[in-house]
Amino acid sequence: MNLRSVNTAQVPVVDRYERPLRSLRLSVTDRCNLRCRYCMPEPEYVWLPREDILSFEEMATLVGYCADLGVDKVRLTGGEPLLRRDLPRLVRLLLQDRRITEVALTTNGVLLAEYAQALYDAGLSRVTVSLDTLRPDRFRRLTGRDEFSRVLDGIESVGKVGFSDFKLDTVAIRGFNDDELSPLIEFAKHYQAEVRFIEYMDVGGANEWSMDKVLSQDMILDALARRYGRIAPMPERGAAPAQRFHLPDGTIFGIIPSTTAPFCAQCDRSRLTADGLWYLCLYAGSGIDLRKPLRMNEHPEQMRQIIRSGWAARRDRGAEARKALEQAGLREGGLIEIDRLREDPHLEMHARGG
Ligand code: SAM
Ligand code: SF4
Ligand code: SF4
Repeated sequence: MNLRSVNTAQVPVVDRYERPLRSLRLSVTDRCNLRCRYCMPEPEYVWLPREDILSFEEMATLVGYCADLGVDKVRLTGGEPLLRRDLPRLVRLLLQDRRITEVALTTNGVLLAEYAQALYDAGLSRVTVSLDTLRPDRFRRLTGRDEFSRVLDGIESVGKVGFSDFKLDTVAIRGFNDDELSPLIEFAKHYQAEVRFIEYMDVGGANEWSMDKVLSQDMILDALARRYGRIAPMPERGAAPAQRFHLPDGTIFGIIPSTTAPFCAQCDRSRLTADGLWYLCLYAGSGIDLRKPLRMNEHPEQMRQIIRSGWAARRDRGAEARKALEQAGLREGGLIEIDRLREDPHLEMHARGG
């Protein structure tokens, strides 16, 4: 078949389980200025080669092809996305495409105070700051860096510049921050933010994961019910990863139960690494290389065909598969062995974007 004769632009695609292609996590760098123990605990990492890292224009072009097939939301992530110079320019570039209705950012907050205004001016729709503790000593222990006060400055700046959609994401870790659930809810309330507790996942390999460190959705709800009284779930979450709840006083918070109650059945997310590998699942062992055909100036129709056929063949339900192993007593430690991680940096969370 002559691909150039078939115009597949603007036709949305669904995968093998009828899940549409809608939300794209765009990792703009694999580098990070923190070393969170659940994400980058190793002293040394193999970084993606600089010449392979996509320019903003290349990223926008690939996002455009994805938009042709249904993507309308983009989340900038990493690594730490604010380490990528001039990120507001990328936000502007992506929003020039009217089909992209939302560009969001997930950041550790360290550099946020510097960039909040410029990001807002560029049209960034939502900001999520990852914050696991309110205690500077714990922060240092968890992240290996003394940057707690800069993260607080970043959080402060989000309110000042006027972002209306502001979330704090907390990885809930048993034996580490289980005593900070309600302080984090109160802290978020003060900044008119919504906190979301994420269950600790065994994604990647170097993540120090074990099931006994997972503070599950049920444990979180029990602890909060003891503190606040009745907690009610909000209506259906659709394709959103978080189930939202409200406290008796109306305060809303979310839980992302990725480990104990995965939401693969509704998952419309894929991930593009900073060097242009497209992963159809957070747990996928390999990605589809979009950089190579892009840099070979493949015809747009061929680019769309690569993306369309990749998504149409998608069967991934990674977190559900991990849970099934757990239930069969076969899940031990991390997903991937350290030696394999050294050979392929894409296997880590900080490369494929959280
Ligand atoms: N550096 C940015 C940040 O930390 O917000 C963006 C990238 S980070 C990989 C994205 C999200 O993944 C963060 O909220 C982080 O807490 C979360 N994350 C990383 N490793 C995780 C793990 N093992 N389990 C659950 N969440 C994890
Ligand atoms: Fe922590 Fe995010 Fe950096 Fe991972 S990428 S080490 S979660 S700040
Ligand atoms: Fe989606 Fe894969 Fe996460 Fe399941 S594990 S929710 S399929 S990215």
